[in-house]
Amino acid sequence: MDHCQHLFSTPFMIDDEPVVVGVSVGVVRFPETETRLSADEIFQRANMALTHSRLEGGGHLSFYETKMSNAAAHRFKLERDLKRAVEKKELRLFMQPQFNVAGEKVAAELLLRWEHPELGMISPAEFIPIAESSNLIVDLGEWVMNQAAQLLHLARQKGISLHLSINISPRHFAKSSFVPWLNNLVKEQKIDPKSLVLEVTEGLFLHNLDSVSEKMRSLRTLGIEFSIDDFGTGYSSLAYLKRLPVNEIKIDKAFVQDAPQDADDAALIDALLAVAEKMQLRVVAEGVETFEQADFLKQCSQSIIYQGYLFGRPAPVEEWLAFWNQPDCPLSNR
Ligand code: C2E
Ligand code: CA
Ligand code: CA
Repeated sequence: MDHCQHLFSTPFMIDDEPVVVGVSVGVVRFPETETRLSADEIFQRANMALTHSRLEGGGHLSFYETKMSNAAAHRFKLERDLKRAVEKKELRLFMQPQFNVAGEKVAAELLLRWEHPELGMISPAEFIPIAESSNLIVDLGEWVMNQAAQLLHLARQKGISLHLSINISPRHFAKSSFVPWLNNLVKEQKIDPKSLVLEVTEGLFLHNLDSVSEKMRSLRTLGIEFSIDDFGTGYSSLAYLKRLPVNEIKIDKAFVQDAPQDADDAALIDALLAVAEKMQLRVVAEGVETFEQADFLKQCSQSIIYQGYLFGRPAPVEEWLAFWNQPDCPLSNR
C-alpha cells in the first residue's frame, strides 16, 4: 500500500492544472465464508470495501464486511435521489448567524439541507460527501450560489446588509471554470461581491497552493473574501496564511468546546488569536454552546466572532431574515 501511495505522490499536469491521484484499496477475502459467490458478486464486494476506503478520506485499505452491503445500498439510494433533488425542489437553505462580543449579528453562514420525501431532513454531513465523490457537488454548489444571490437581494430589500459565508467544495473550486463562472454570476445577478465570504478547507491547499492562491487573488480583486473553515483540524500550517489572500479563519468546534477545560486547546486558541491579530485576520469560533465557552473566548479576544447553538441555531433563511433586525429576535438565544 505504501509503495502504491509513493508511486502516485507526484501530481499529474493536465491542461496546466495539477491533478492529484489518491490511492484507496478495497479487499475481499475469498473463499472465506460463502463459497458460492459469482465473480460479479466478489467484485461488487471489493468495490464496497473500496468505497468505504474512499469515504474514510482515501489513502486507506479496507476489508469487506457484511454491514458494508447495507451501507452501500443506502448510499446508492441517496446518490440516485440526490441527482434529482434540485429539480424536485427538495433542497433547503438554512442560515446560522454570527455575533460579535456585544451580541450583535454581524454575518451568517449558509447551510444546505435536503428534505428527502421518505427519509425526512438529511444533514449535509451525510449527503455532501456523496455529492463530492462526483460532479454532483458542482451542481449543488451552483444552485447554492444562485440562491445566495437571491437571498442577498431579498435582504437588501428588507434593509439588511448581509455578509454571507458560503461553503465551497474543493472539487468545485478546483475546476478551471470556477473563477469565470463566479465572476459572471456576480455581474449577471448584480451581487455586491463584498457581501460574499467563501469558506474553504485546508485540504484545498495541500497539493496546488500556487494555482489556488492565483484563483483566490483574482476573486479577491472583485472584493470577495475568503475564510479557512475547520481551522486546526487539517494540516494547519500557519505558512498558508502568509501565502494566501485569506481574510478570516474559523476555529473548529472541537477546540472551542474543549478550551475551557483543556489546557492544550486553550493554548492553541491563544496562539491562533495572537497570529490572527498580527495578520489582521478575523476569527470566528464555531460551535459555541455554553456561556463558559463564550466567556473563555471573550477573555482571549474582544474581536472574536461567535457562531453556535448558544447564540442561534441554523434555521430556514426566511425565518432568520424575518427577525434579523429585531433586538429580541425569538430565534436568538442570547
Ligand atoms: P461546517 O461548514 O463546519 O458547518 C458548521 C456545522 O456545525 C453545521 O452543521 C452547523 O449546523 C453545526 N453547528 C453550528 N453550531 C453548532 C453548535 O453550537 N454545536 C454543534 N455541535 N454544531 C454546531 P451542518 O449544517 O450539519 O453542516 C455540516 C457540514 O456540511 C458543514 O460543516 C459543511 O462542511 C457542509 N455543508 C453545509 N452546507 C454546505 C454547502 O452549501 N456546500 C458545501 N460544499 N458544503 C456544505
Ligand atoms: Ca463552514
Ligand atoms: Ca466548520
